Amino acid sequence: SKDAGGGVFNVYEPQLHVAAEERRVLEIALRGALENDELALNYQPVVHAGTGALTGFEALLRWTHPTLGPISPAKFIPLAEDARLIAPIGEWVLRNACAEAAKWDDDIRIAVNVSPEQLHNPAFVAVIAQAITQTGISPDRLELEVTESVFLREGTGAVRVLEHILQLGCRLSLDDFGTGYSSLGYLSRTKFSSIKIDRSFVQSASKGVREAIAIIRAVVALAQSLGMATTAEGVETEEEHQMVQELGCTKVQGYYFGRPLPTDEARHLATRRKRG
Ligand code: C2E
Ligand code: CA
Ligand code: CA
Ligand code: CA
Repeated sequence: SKDAGGGVFNVYEPQLHVAAEERRVLEIALRGALENDELALNYQPVVHAGTGALTGFEALLRWTHPTLGPISPAKFIPLAEDARLIAPIGEWVLRNACAEAAKWDDDIRIAVNVSPEQLHNPAFVAVIAQAITQTGISPDRLELEVTESVFLREGTGAVRVLEHILQLGCRLSLDDFGTGYSSLGYLSRTKFSSIKIDRSFVQSASKGVREAIAIIRAVVALAQSLGMATTAEGVETEEEHQMVQELGCTKVQGYYFGRPLPTDEARHLATRRKRG
């Protein structure tokens, strides 16, 4: 009602009220998550579609709150972006992922997700350069995954930051392709090594949705003509693997090949040659 608590919150929207309160609580908790050692990385295998050989891992961030338990990145990453926490968290991710990859066989790549907010900060290039030099990994083993949304805000310098990342010798991949802003102009301007085809297309295609099959086929053709690889995301079954392979995808990733793994399990898979 109007009299209670200054009438700021509408009593007919309890849902909104709870969400705002939860956000506030999580944001405060997230501020301490780095210091309190509550963050960890998992590593999901990426394999060659034809041979099934391991080509690399994607680092995926995990947050376990001491009382609330595990919190999904889909929930806390946007929160970190809004609360300006993504820079320090992203730096932590990058440094830890590179340090871990330094222990792997040197033909195994590491992919790290990067938020648009990070790319709008010119100092981010120095963060990457430092992670590479401090861990001693070859820059071409580091792949930065960005989404189409970075191209939404033109004139923010993000494209220039991407250019600098390429100059360091790192690779770029275009994540969640086809789910966001879709002007294709930037594909000719920025040299991506690979395009990641979102799981939603893989899922629909495996259900026989013709449009989804046509889109995957078109993306593969586009990527090939631009000299880029394609990674099918979220492959969960042998049938889906078969299908995306037949459609010409270069690499595959998904529960069928491996879930995101804790550090030691990923390391075991990534050190086959080192262990002899
Ligand atoms: P993404 O980059 O598209 O990562 C793929 C997501 O799909 C991951 O979810 C992964 O666990 C999940 N996945 C992989 N294979 C399968 C499958 O076969 N089936 C299904 N159903 N899901 C599969 P996760 O780990 O919950 O991450 C969600 C999103 O959070 C990521 O989507 C990424 O956008 C973001 N994220 C995760 N870690 C980081 C990070 O270190 N930095 C930033 N900026 N974003 C991150
Ligand atoms: Ca990704
Ligand atoms: Ca993705
Ligand atoms: Ca995604």
